[in-house]
Amino acid sequence: MKQMLPPSRITELAHEEACCDPTFDWQNRQDFDFASRGLIHRPDDAAVYDSEGNIVWHHKAFEEFLHGDAPPTVHPSLWRHALLNNFRGLFKVTDGVYQVRGESLANVTFVESDNGYIVIDPLTTAEVAAYALNLLYEHVGEKPIVAMIYSHTHSDHFGGVRGMISDEQVESGQVPVFASEGFVEWVLKEHGLAAEGTPSRNAYMYGENLPISATGLVDDGLGQAIEGGQVTYIAPTDIIGRDGAALSIDGVPVQFMYAPGEAPTGMHCYFPKLNTLHVADNCYMCMHNIYTIRGAFPRDALQWADSVAQSLKFTDTEYLVSGHNWPVFGKDEVRTFLGQQRDGIKFMHDQTLRLMNFGYVPAEIANKIEFPPSLARLWHLRGYYGTLKHNVRGIYAYYLGWYDGNPATLDELPPRTLARKTLEYMGGVTAVIERAQEDYEQGNYRWVVHVLNQVLWTDPENMAARELASAAHTQLGYSAENATWRNAYLSAAIELTQGLPETPKLHRALRDVTRSMSVLHMLDALSIRLNASRAAGKTFIVNWILSDSAELAHSEICNCVLNHRDGNVSEAHATVTLTRSVIGQMSLESLNTNQFVDLVEAIEGNVDVVTELLGLLDHFPHWFPVASHDYKFEE
Ligand SMILES: [Zn+2]
Repeated sequence: MKQMLPPSRITELAHEEACCDPTFDWQNRQDFDFASRGLIHRPDDAAVYDSEGNIVWHHKAFEEFLHGDAPPTVHPSLWRHALLNNFRGLFKVTDGVYQVRGESLANVTFVESDNGYIVIDPLTTAEVAAYALNLLYEHVGEKPIVAMIYSHTHSDHFGGVRGMISDEQVESGQVPVFASEGFVEWVLKEHGLAAEGTPSRNAYMYGENLPISATGLVDDGLGQAIEGGQVTYIAPTDIIGRDGAALSIDGVPVQFMYAPGEAPTGMHCYFPKLNTLHVADNCYMCMHNIYTIRGAFPRDALQWADSVAQSLKFTDTEYLVSGHNWPVFGKDEVRTFLGQQRDGIKFMHDQTLRLMNFGYVPAEIANKIEFPPSLARLWHLRGYYGTLKHNVRGIYAYYLGWYDGNPATLDELPPRTLARKTLEYMGGVTAVIERAQEDYEQGNYRWVVHVLNQVLWTDPENMAARELASAAHTQLGYSAENATWRNAYLSAAIELTQGLPETPKLHRALRDVTRSMSVLHMLDALSIRLNASRAAGKTFIVNWILSDSAELAHSEICNCVLNHRDGNVSEAHATVTLTRSVIGQMSLESLNTNQFVDLVEAIEGNVDVVTELLGLLDHFPHWFPVASHDYKFEE
């Protein structure tokens, strides 16, 4: 891998300015106290590995550079946050409440019960979950898990479940699994169809392909980094409705509060005897993502602010824990924190809608709205994960969608044509690159990446444009306070000069989630892979018999569309008998025709129809180009 560029003088100056910016309350050390309080054990293992010897979590890489003052390649405010996220290990929050933090993107919380532990959020992958549980067992005591709670639907909060409990324990009723209403449906929605398109965007946001160093990945905002391993899933057994519930789990009273916000469904858990409140991902120590730049539909900011506001009813809370970052300690501190978090979200919401009603378009709103000093000064509302700029665009899109209302933008020319025409008016590619170089020297990096993006649409192979755009992205990355923006800029810088990575750096498997999908849901994933050009004029029907679950379905192709319905039909051209796992593999993974024919149990009728269907399906690349516009696929 090539060396990253050094910071420019302009980037260095910007960082020096941030260090004396009165907005930043550098003297306030409360977060360092909270992040380190109650440490029981900080493991010094160099890394966590999966069963095949792949690294899933890397301590050493971060430890090597993450200490001392901010280097000139990292925004000082982000550096401070990265140091705080590096307080990792097993912590005691209060008597009977433990957390493993900094050993995954997310936190796991353990609440001691009469006979064991209640687990809230078993991390992202089975490997790190087993590692975290082992830390608890070694340093606090080995006792059985008596209940599992998923605070919300995102995989960093359930994916490690099989590293802690088994199907048998759940099926026998030994370990109930609690989740809020709508959990199963949303997990499938969020990890089904669109997930196919997101590895590249995820990698940009979380810095998955960046070197872990002061010129690469330093932090992910809500945690240090994303881990590798097996993302597993066990469906919940006990659903908490919208009215919440007050239960006793193995002698521990728990009040569940329905709390959608960061996720479309989720819940807060209050433990009255422990004065401890778990607020899912609705609050943590940086600004939230109303919209996430990996791509997802925007979240309901108003509902979110309301979920936070409602949590103020637990007036005796002394310990506030959440899915990421570190806790808040103290009754007054918790109350103040919740109020400020509520106001941070509501401010973004209300001010976006105010400007929207004056006719401002998203880009104007994004560059106009700033927090008032009373909110801007709060470390826990700084934009290390969300930013005001991208959140307000998300809020606009939540209400009004992608269109800004101006018919001049209603039917814009496609980007390559638009860029070609624009550059022609500007005097051509060479003239534009020369001017862009001047702007680079002056530190106008946002403009440089914009104008060179036009050049790259026109001429993706233009090396001068790639090098200069890469340099500008690098400086934008170094000067970003937001971890995910930094990761995105630096990922673009690398893609432009070194191309796409050959293989995924992190090995992560999601197969477990698909086991819970209905057959029709799995088949829906086939429909989006149908190549419409090749499917023109094709009409046929295939029956599916799932031998292990006795489910029947059929797929019909017509009008270049694949439709799927329950049951078999007599007019089908072929009938395929196969297992759930094979239909899952066919739908969600790359299986060629020979592999498929080997895996199915029987094909009756016209075998050619089945092989033809497989031939009409596209296989998506793991990575697609983002910044370089260098598409290599054939239509
Ligand atoms: Zn999370």
